[in-house]
Amino acid sequence: MRRLLVTGGAGFIGCNFVQYWMKQYPSDRVVVLDALTYAGKKEHLASVADNPNFCFVHGNICDQPLVEALMRKEGIDTIVHFAAESHVDRSIEGPDLFVETNIIGTHTLLKVARQLWIEEGAVDDHRFHHVSTDEVYGALGPNDPPFTEETPYAPNSPYSASKASSDHLVRAYNRTYGLKTSISNCSNNYGPYQDEEKLIPKTIQRVRAGEPIPVYGDGSNIRDWLHVEDHCRAIELILNAECAGEVFNVGGGEQWSNLDLVKLICQKIDEQRGTEGSERLITFVEDRKGHDWRYDVDCGKLMGLGYEVEVLFVEKLEKIISL
Ligand code: NAD
Repeated sequence: MRRLLVTGGAGFIGCNFVQYWMKQYPSDRVVVLDALTYAGKKEHLASVADNPNFCFVHGNICDQPLVEALMRKEGIDTIVHFAAESHVDRSIEGPDLFVETNIIGTHTLLKVARQLWIEEGAVDDHRFHHVSTDEVYGALGPNDPPFTEETPYAPNSPYSASKASSDHLVRAYNRTYGLKTSISNCSNNYGPYQDEEKLIPKTIQRVRAGEPIPVYGDGSNIRDWLHVEDHCRAIELILNAECAGEVFNVGGGEQWSNLDLVKLICQKIDEQRGTEGSERLITFVEDRKGHDWRYDVDCGKLMGLGYEVEVLFVEKLEKIISL
């Protein structure tokens, strides 16, 4: 039986993970620590709120005394760290908060984990799993091979630079102090509970409202799309493997240019509503500063743990649209 601290568990991926984990491992204790920023909502956890093995704590990962007291009280042996500022555009507008949450916050968790798990030997076994992004690797050109776990880091936005820094700290705590860490670098997630500032929910909302759909530049930027359920399964495989100090890429095997994806959503909504011509709402806007052109990840290492993409992209997208 594990005792998990899930940071950022009221956010998009975190709340999907908490629901997934509590279904798979009903006797595990799951404690969510979340600051409830604009991206976190307690309602995302309504389905587990009454479960006696679940506990929600409203607080900041940068608050070291709080993190330490919570981990001691709950006997936490596993941290699954999702909490972050996660939106690239916001990082361009205001990088400070990204440095604070993504770097200082991650370091705070690492310090407490080291103190309790390494210095005090408070639990028999432990794991610090850090959820990161493929954006740390920078951008690919048209003919470049996908990112592997060996691809050198080359982050281009304040967001990806802050995530890269946190990845390095996690690695250093493994190599220097022997903390049992793991890192997953995943591609763009989609699925239930995603904030409307992100491409897929924003496009759906705009089409429904008959409002302009902003598309950066000429829309040719390519992303790999990973359903959040596949992501949760990937994290589960990593947590259950003997892989301290390892890094795994997680992808969905679905490469779409932003423009093609937006057109697909328009087409699917038109089909469902019996309307046509939603594509006319597409409005090209000035490109994002430092906009990475393409991401693609090689998941071969994770497949060695049994990872397979189970979710069919277009089918799942249709379901999301019909919600
Ligand atoms: P999100 O923005 O939806 O949720 C982040 C959560 O963290 C929110 O609940 C927020 O309240 C909480 N939070 C923020 N600052 C906090 C703080 N200081 N203390 C405690 N809680 C805080 O993010 P997401 O999309 O669910 O992403 C989760 C993780 O996955 C992030 O680390 C992100 O970098 C990574 N990631 C996301 C994607 C994606 O496509 N969404 C892709 C790759 C990696």
